[in-house]
Amino acid sequence: MYSMKTVEDIRGLFPALQQSVYGKPLVYLDNSATSQKPQCVIDLVDGMHKGANANVHRAMHKLSDDATALYEGAREKVRQFINAPGRENIIFTSGTTASINLVASSFCRKFVGEGDVVLVSGDSHHSNIVPWQLACGAAGASVKAIPVLESGELDMEAYKELLQGSRVKIVAVEHISNVMGIVNPVKEMIALAHAQGIPVLVDGAQGIVHARVDVQDMDCDFYAFSGHKIYAATGSGVLYGRRELLEAMPPYMGGGDMVDTVTFEKTTYAPLPLKYEAGTPNFIAQASLAPALEFAQSLREGEIASVVEEQERSIIEYLKVALQEIEGCRIYGLPQRGDMEPGMPGSKIPVFSFNIEGCFPSDLAQLLDKMGIAVRTGMMCCEPLMARFGVTSMVRASFLPYNTLQEAEYFIASLKRAARMLR
Ligand code: PLP
Repeated sequence: MYSMKTVEDIRGLFPALQQSVYGKPLVYLDNSATSQKPQCVIDLVDGMHKGANANVHRAMHKLSDDATALYEGAREKVRQFINAPGRENIIFTSGTTASINLVASSFCRKFVGEGDVVLVSGDSHHSNIVPWQLACGAAGASVKAIPVLESGELDMEAYKELLQGSRVKIVAVEHISNVMGIVNPVKEMIALAHAQGIPVLVDGAQGIVHARVDVQDMDCDFYAFSGHKIYAATGSGVLYGRRELLEAMPPYMGGGDMVDTVTFEKTTYAPLPLKYEAGTPNFIAQASLAPALEFAQSLREGEIASVVEEQERSIIEYLKVALQEIEGCRIYGLPQRGDMEPGMPGSKIPVFSFNIEGCFPSDLAQLLDKMGIAVRTGMMCCEPLMARFGVTSMVRASFLPYNTLQEAEYFIASLKRAARMLR
């Protein structure tokens, strides 16, 4: 479908990467926040607005049929991409945050009570902390965190103890940290939790982008991700759920499309997955998951896959060394073993968060911006993790397959220049 042989061929499919900022070619290194969009996604969104723009599932007319086919086609694409058993396991949401809120709210209402515990990983994004706090507050339960080691990895011994001692009702863990880029051993963590009869939600916002996800092999109970981080339009998102749990939990929101019959006395709900899809969904964004995931898959197959893997490996190796060579630079999250295959537990994806002594992260980011480089600074929605490392802010550079080693080199040269200007 795509004839991509080089990273330049990949870049050519992304109009946004062709632009200049402040007269400099854009070097977009804020990919963990959101990805740029390939032409196939732009075409789908544009085409639906011009053609198949009608509400899904509701009407007996051609436009609605076309929109429904694209929406449900995307669901099937998601199912294949993560190897879910059926379409009823795939709930469309507006993103990872919405997916986790859905589970926190519905699961806790059904299964969590006074004195119970929800265990979250210590590297969690706020969207894997706050929804659980809200739900636990209502249930009289509490949230506990799995500690993070100095290397950025989760403390597995502490995790095992936390599972034993308390009344843990669910574990919610990051697949890959959005700050440190470390791949957590989620399969092992799930097996340990299941041995105690505890279900596990995996926050896959970064995992879906950088690892091959097979929910049946992983054996997770829930897997949440956002479309916009993996090339799809903003406003698309997915919750994979184990069927028995999705059946047992109460609906999250009420409204159109999620019902079977409604009377003023009593309502029965639509079968999965629509039970959790109240109201008009963002059907164009969700439909864009089909071309987006096809595109992501094409980067993992054939000739281009080895080019992408090699490029990723060389960027990681280069940045590990080059950042540490900068005086006063500290990288947060360097796994103890440096030799794990990319995407495997204990490996690091090309996401680097760091600080340079004597430089405010926001000053560095502003100077880099003027040199055409987009990076992220601040807490990265991970305040507890910042506190763990005793800082309030970091700089983060995050890469996707369309980023080149030359961009990484330009980033390092520009960073050194910016640090010199500030110190
Ligand atoms: N979890 C992780 C690990 C993330 O990186 C993000 C976004 O950066 C989220 C959750 C929230 O994703 P969204 O804002 O798309 O809902």
